[in-house]
Amino acid sequence: MDEFELIEKYFVRANEGSGVALGIGDDGAVLRPDPDRDLVAVVDTLVAGVHYPAATDAYDVGYRSVVINLSDIAAMGARPRWMTLALSMPSADEEWVAGFADGLHAAAAEYGVALVGGDTTSGDQVVVSVQITGDVAAGAAIRRGGARVGDTIFVTGTVGDAAAGLESMSAGNPNEALMARFLRPTPRVDYGMSLVGSASAAIDISDGLYGDLQKLLCASAVGAILELELLPISAALRSVFDADAVRRFALSGGDDYELCFTARDSELPDSGDLRVTAIGKVTREKDIVCREHGAVVEYGNGGYRHFQ
Ligand code: ADP
Ligand code: MG
Repeated sequence: MDEFELIEKYFVRANEGSGVALGIGDDGAVLRPDPDRDLVAVVDTLVAGVHYPAATDAYDVGYRSVVINLSDIAAMGARPRWMTLALSMPSADEEWVAGFADGLHAAAAEYGVALVGGDTTSGDQVVVSVQITGDVAAGAAIRRGGARVGDTIFVTGTVGDAAAGLESMSAGNPNEALMARFLRPTPRVDYGMSLVGSASAAIDISDGLYGDLQKLLCASAVGAILELELLPISAALRSVFDADAVRRFALSGGDDYELCFTARDSELPDSGDLRVTAIGKVTREKDIVCREHGAVVEYGNGGYRHFQ
């Protein structure tokens, strides 16, 4: 099966009603944005063995490559619309591509994003780069830089699970519930859209809550007090690791793909079944002070960084 048959069989899907004037098959896709909407563009790359264990199931790689991008779209308060895919792999292993495409299309269908083009190449290892374009009312995208002194800091879902899942796996004792949080992140797309007009700033948590909150605070030129006992921790995480490890995963674990945002308490939109937890306050002093039941505790950030 050559490259073009592969694309035709595994990547071309119907895209009715999604603003796609011309999809896969030409030199470029033609997309029709709605008037009075800004476009929000994001891209994220997954390298086998760097961003996920090389033995990860193809379906999970496909699914994850979409949802980690959707998490950035969610953090901007945008609606996902179109995506392109650059895929490098060592050989055209059809079984792998079939599984990968299933996962990718499952995530795309779940969150309403159309695959409109891409590029397929051979390379030494699997490298998946997904680019998503979303839209939001003109001027309304939520930025990192809008947090105000006195705002409350919120986080969605629970934090630390994905990193703990990965560690449980490397330790040879994989915890299913925690691993599922790594393999199938749940981007908060609907809630992100509902935050437009009420959140003053937002970021999605990919590198760890502490480090990502630091980026938001830095962009807003403010600081924060974090109340560590308020961090939302899952029962699974608590049951597998001791209190110190739980704290390390929750603050610096990464791969959560939850939203961290700031807002006035009175402006918090209804989140339905989604857990949204107040974890601290925005302050004038430009650093993060961590407290536990009122007492200040030191926390050195161990958030994951590339090239260090
Ligand atoms: P070109 O050589 O003009 O860049 P290609 O031959 O690489 O075009 O691709 C043919 C068509 O298939 C294009 O519309 C491209 O967007 C699409 N395409 C290629 N690879 C993928 C992929 N992995 N997923 C989705 N669409 C793809
Ligand atoms: Mg071309």
